[in-house]
Amino acid sequence: MTTGQHLIKDQWVNGPSSFESETHQGTGHNIQRANTAIVNLAAEAASQAFQSFGFSSTKDRAKLLRTIASEINARGDEITSVCSKETGLPSARLVGERGRTTQQLELFASYIEQGDYLQPSVDKALPERTPIPRPELKKTLRPYGPVAVFGASNFPLAFSTAGGDTASALAAGCPVVVKGHPAHPATSELVAQAISAAIKQCDMDPGIFSLIQDDGIKAAQHLVKHPKISAVGFTGSLKAGRALFDLCNQRPVPIPFYGEMGSLNPVFILPDALAQSCHEIANGWVDSLNLGVGQFCTKPGLLFIPQGEAGDAFIETAKTKLENSTANQLLTKGIATAFVQSTQDIKNKSGVTPVYNPTVTVDAIYPNVFTTTATTWFDSPELHQEIFGPYALIVRTANHTETLKAADALEGQLTSTLFITEHDYEMAKPLLQILEQKAGRILANGFPTGVEVAESMVHGGPYPASTFVGTTSVGTTAIQRFLRPVCYQNIPKNLLPSELQEFTD
Ligand code: NAP
Repeated sequence: MTTGQHLIKDQWVNGPSSFESETHQGTGHNIQRANTAIVNLAAEAASQAFQSFGFSSTKDRAKLLRTIASEINARGDEITSVCSKETGLPSARLVGERGRTTQQLELFASYIEQGDYLQPSVDKALPERTPIPRPELKKTLRPYGPVAVFGASNFPLAFSTAGGDTASALAAGCPVVVKGHPAHPATSELVAQAISAAIKQCDMDPGIFSLIQDDGIKAAQHLVKHPKISAVGFTGSLKAGRALFDLCNQRPVPIPFYGEMGSLNPVFILPDALAQSCHEIANGWVDSLNLGVGQFCTKPGLLFIPQGEAGDAFIETAKTKLENSTANQLLTKGIATAFVQSTQDIKNKSGVTPVYNPTVTVDAIYPNVFTTTATTWFDSPELHQEIFGPYALIVRTANHTETLKAADALEGQLTSTLFITEHDYEMAKPLLQILEQKAGRILANGFPTGVEVAESMVHGGPYPASTFVGTTSVGTTAIQRFLRPVCYQNIPKNLLPSELQEFTD
């Protein structure tokens, strides 16, 4: 059961007005809108809760994360049913995404229990050193303070209310205020109920988690500008991410804004791989492009292949496979409207040829794939932008020099992929050197959709893939975003954080 209310410090409260949410089946939910007063309550509650939660033990926080996971699982069927209605995503996908969400919470629990994430260090005192004695210096990582979290529409569980940003912030000891996504508010509420139940079971301050709901931008803007908010974790579009990032930087006290945004995820097929496996790669690429109706941030939306017969055969195979596509719906009417308009704009652009371009309407979306030359692509900034949904552009390069130039012209990306055989290694070397500067994750002979939650995962990249190039939003390293180093000089042992009290080496 959901109420459509905001969750503030264990209380379900109304806002000044409400909106009707969009669903894919039947009527929507009546959802309360947040205003500045609601945001203030949530931020104040988080700030007060930080006084205890910021000094809690890793054992207590690990227990909280595991309890949240089990409370989410206890509501599993209801979450799947409500979320499927809200998003139109199939149940099997949502069950898988729930598993990923709970595993992520459990992974952070195990990770913080190991302790090394705090990277403690000590420089022993050197009282006899001349000409100046050295004091004792000890360093550890401390939580930032309250974090505002924004989830995306396309991952209603894994990048939403209890997704990676919330899990990593809570693991670090930071209270969280989630701004729920208006595309799945009832799902957000059910997950918030699970978090609230877990906080009660663990006897922690209820202010460590609040959920506010809204379908506009004012409450979101007030939240990131609130003086009690210390950092922001955001997943979503470049437009929204950039607007909120700018607001964070314009604050009297600027705060870190960890924005994970869109990406083209360029794929480069080198000549021998293309000659050996053009049909296999073409079929795999269309599958990856169509996965989740193209609504993945890792969708391979830009492809570079050499001109020539093997490239022509690749396009023919891709076209044949695309022709088997059925009509689908996108997550929201807004996303579908943008897809219809953007693909129409591409179709009207000179120098761009359709590979597969059936008519699309807001309620019947098909993949749209176009091709162009590298020369046209270099001169067309609008072809360098993400179109969310099953759209892709195939760019034909005249030679390897042009391929390297194309790689160099790319903006920051979440991923980049190479298809190569050992006969392509010489060509791949300089390409890899360029792509290392462009992407957070580089793959060989695979597709970028599917992001492992693991210690070595990097889900981030240079701007505009993210607003903070040195981090990742997926995998255990994500916790570093919400921690900062503090040095304790000659501080008596009993006053130090526990991990430093016994630390000698
Ligand atoms: P979105 O429209 O940017 O929404 C994300 C959040 O920002 C929502 O809560 C939205 O609420 C809010 N918002 C939107 N415009 C705003 C503005 N001007 N000011 C303040 N808040 C604003 O993104 P989406 O459609 O949900 O997600 C699709 C995008 O996310 C794609 O570009 C995809 O590639 C990207 N994505 C990236 C990752 C990653 O890890 N890098 C993962 C998943 C998705 P309102 O709608 O109420 O404004």
